[in-house]
This record gives sequence, structure tokens and C-alpha cells, in this order.
Amino acid sequence: MNSDRRRAIERGTGDAPLRGLDPLRLTARDAKRLLVDGEISSAELTKVYLDQIAAVESKVRAYILHTPDNAAKYSTKVDREMQAMRGPLAGLPIAVKDNMVTEGVTTTCASKMLHNYQPVYTATAVRQVWEDHVVMLGKTNLDEFAMGSSTENSAYQVTANPWDLSTVPGGSSGGSAAAVAAGEALWALGSDTGGSIRQPAALCGIVGMKPTYGAVSRYGLIAFASSLDQIGPLTRSVYDCALLLQHLVGHDPRDATSVELPEPVALPTAERLDGLRVGVPSEYLAVGIEPGVRARFDETLARIEELGGACVEISLPHTEYALPAYYIIAPAEASANLARFDGVRYGYRCADPVDLLDLYERTRGEGFGPEVKRRIMIGTYALSAGYYDAYYGRAQKVRTLVRRDFDEAFAGVDLIASPTTPTVAFKAGSRTSDPLAMYMSDICTIPANLAGLPALSIPCGLSDGLPVGFQLIGPAFSENRLLEAAHALEGAIGFDTAPTFRGARRERDANGWRADWPAPPGPITFSPEDAQS
Ligand code: GLN
Repeated sequence: MNSDRRRAIERGTGDAPLRGLDPLRLTARDAKRLLVDGEISSAELTKVYLDQIAAVESKVRAYILHTPDNAAKYSTKVDREMQAMRGPLAGLPIAVKDNMVTEGVTTTCASKMLHNYQPVYTATAVRQVWEDHVVMLGKTNLDEFAMGSSTENSAYQVTANPWDLSTVPGGSSGGSAAAVAAGEALWALGSDTGGSIRQPAALCGIVGMKPTYGAVSRYGLIAFASSLDQIGPLTRSVYDCALLLQHLVGHDPRDATSVELPEPVALPTAERLDGLRVGVPSEYLAVGIEPGVRARFDETLARIEELGGACVEISLPHTEYALPAYYIIAPAEASANLARFDGVRYGYRCADPVDLLDLYERTRGEGFGPEVKRRIMIGTYALSAGYYDAYYGRAQKVRTLVRRDFDEAFAGVDLIASPTTPTVAFKAGSRTSDPLAMYMSDICTIPANLAGLPALSIPCGLSDGLPVGFQLIGPAFSENRLLEAAHALEGAIGFDTAPTFRGARRERDANGWRADWPAPPGPITFSPEDAQS
């Protein structure tokens, strides 16, 4: 970079050559190159996203909380101290799902229960990227406590899918996925308990990855179902996914289930798939995959073969039991995890309780939304004495069978492929009154969570103008194999990530606010540098 330009950036007077910077297509890899070459400063890059937020957020509503002042301030600091802050992520703007605690930044989990919760510490995964000097743009919307597949269970707002504003972005990381797809963030963090990274990534036409269980610390991720939850990246390319994942993984003594990956995450370079054996489970294609999704899926299998790979039909015979087992195990763990929200320690407390029982009952009755209550009731029932063996014990046995199916399959194939979701994005409101229809959205993603396996979704084309996701599942710790294969395939597919913003938002009232929705926390200022020191 020429030294005048560097000095100008360090003084904060860099004149941005922003023309041609398209937030709907820009990858972190390219943004980093522009930063390193001095073509753009972090403050200028951040402004691209803040401007895009100002332009489209009223349509998309991806964020629960914006941190624009901090983003502007911190990016300027990165520019000023670029010698000291030179890490691979330095200066790149990111969005964070609002179920990861962030010191000094309200963290709501999209629940009224945590409407005013100010965490006193930061989730390990978020801290790791903060320490790499990423610029946080805000906290994104989700289904309350990450329970859902459409982001319609948020206590605060409904997020729209940037491809068609009348459809859902998927969930529960719908805010993060929509923010990336709409160019309101360069990339984002999500969490995946039964598909909540991959499913919204698929519906929004971006890349999403759930790492091997334990690879990324869960410390500071507000627990939904602890044996299933994993944090992972939502990005515009597979390369970006690997780059972000590199900075998320690592053993954390604060998470008893955390493990070190046997090899570091590598940045993918593959363009061919020679010798790769991909299994296609017949059971996944028998779950009511809609024709447009099936067509894109079959085309992608053909591309795998063109690139030198081989696709073979396999069987995962216990697939049909995965969803029912998940909907015992996840609610059981959720009912235990959510017992802590009692109005005593933090979060929402009902007004004027007459005694302790009244405090508990009304706090939880008023603080939790309907889907969360449904899960707590199912979980409490499944765990009660007398039913424990019949439900929870059995579901755990089924989980073992599902895992064994994968073990046996991976003796013969390197990776497993399926559509990420049976359908493209569905209309807002179309599944809210039918929980089972909503649960079916995750039928292809849930088995990998039960087995703890890494899996990712890449966009593989459009059906009716809406993105279709292609899922690859690998054996435990095969992150690099997955990323290489997905990278080669992504190159061959050549998907254009810029969404169409067609249609109009579906509102429940004119403002998109339900009468009983609490106001989300207002914009706030915080300093990650303070939090880090
Ligand atoms: N949709 C699934 C559920 O509601 C998965 C959610 C998730 O992965 N967080 O439980």
C-alpha cells in the first residue's frame, strides 16, 4: 500500500474507493485482501455494512440490537493500530446470534425472560473473534432460546428472508442468516442444535456449518440442549466458513465437552473431487422432498461426478426415528436448562409476587413464549419418574442406533449428501399453528446433531426463485474433508449470493410488532476493548 494512503487511514481520513464494493457479494476473503492492500480501511468497510443496514433493515429485521457506535469506533481503532492488530480477522465486521453472551451488551436470546440481561462475561467463541479484532455490528434475531425453524418464535420481531420478504429466513439462526444474505453483515455466528445453522443458511442462499460436537466451546452459549448445541459460521463462501471456523475452534477448559480438533482447520483450495465417495441415503429422499429441491439436488450429485467423485446410494435405516428421538432429548435437556430462569437471579421478574410460588409461576408464565413452554412441558413429562425409561431412556437408545448407522455408512463412503431441507423458504405464518409441520423442517439436519457429526450446507441453485441448500455430512473431526469438498463443489455451482428482495414483508400488525411484544433493547454503545482488557 502506498504510505500516504496508510497514513490517511491511520488518521481516519482515508477516502474510500467504495465503488464496486457490493455487500451482497463481497466475501470476507476479498474484504481482507482489500484491507491488507490498503484499498479500503476497516472504518470504510464497516460503513458499507452500516449503510446497508440503514437501507434494508426495516424490511429484513435481522438484528435485535445494533451496536453501530461501537462498530464505527472500533473499526477506526483497528485502522489506527493496524500494526498491532494485524490478525487474519482484524477489521472485518461480524454479526452475532443473540444467544451468545457478550459482556456489556444486552443478550436477550429473543426472550422476554432476558429482555434486560446484561452479561458479565463473554462466550468463548465470541471472545476469540473479538480478540482477533473483528468488528461487531450487533446481535441477531432468533427463535426464542433457539427453539424453532423460522425465527417466528422470537419475542421481539419476525425476520424476513431477503430473497422473498413474505417468506421466513429459516431458524433458529434466521437473523444471522438473513443479515449475511441481505449484505447487513460480512459474516455471522449462529448455533445449531438440530439444524439451526444449516437450515437458515439453505433458505437464505448462504453457507452454514455445524462443526463436530465439542470442536467449538459452548461456554457462554445460552444452553438449549447441551448434548446437541454447537456454535458455527454463517458465511457467503466456503473459504470464509473455514477462515471463521479456524478462529472458533479450540479446547476450552470452561466447557467440559470441548475437544481439540486432531488437525488445524485448513483454508480450502480443492477444485476437484477425484476419488471422493459420496453416499446418498435413500431414507433422506423419502421424506417429502419437493420437486424443485430434488432437481437441484440431483444436478449437484451430477456435478460431484463431473468433478471426479462417485455418488452411491446408501441406507441409514434408523433415520425415521431421529426426529421423534430429538423431540424427546432436546426438550428434556431444555426443561432442565431453563429451570434457572426463575425471576430470582436475573432476567424478567413478574410484578408484585405474593409469595415464592407466585413469583416462579408468573415469572415463567409471562416471561416464556408458547413454543418454549411447549418444550418445557414435553421435557418435564419425559423426564418424570415412571416415564423416564419409556421416553428419555428409549430416545437415548435410538440416538445410539442413529450414530451406529453413520459409523457403518462411513466405513464405505467419505461423505454423505442430502438436501438440507425438504422445501425452500416457506411463507411467514404458514407453519406457526402446526408445530409438527415446523419440526419437519429439520428432518435432514437433526440426525447429524444426534450423532455429533460435522455437517454443512451450501447453496446449490434456485427453485421458484428461492435458494436450495445442499448438505454434506462427514465423520467426526472431518472438518477439512468437508470444507475441501464443499469448496470444489461451490466453484462448480457458481451460485450468485445476491438476493432479490422480492415481495413484501408479512406483518402481524402494521409495524411488524405484536401488541404484546416487548420493545427490543435500543441501540447501545459498548467497547469490546474494555471487555477484553
Ligand atoms: N428447529 C429445531 C428445534 O426447534 C432445531 C433448533 C436449533 O437447531 N436450535 O429444536
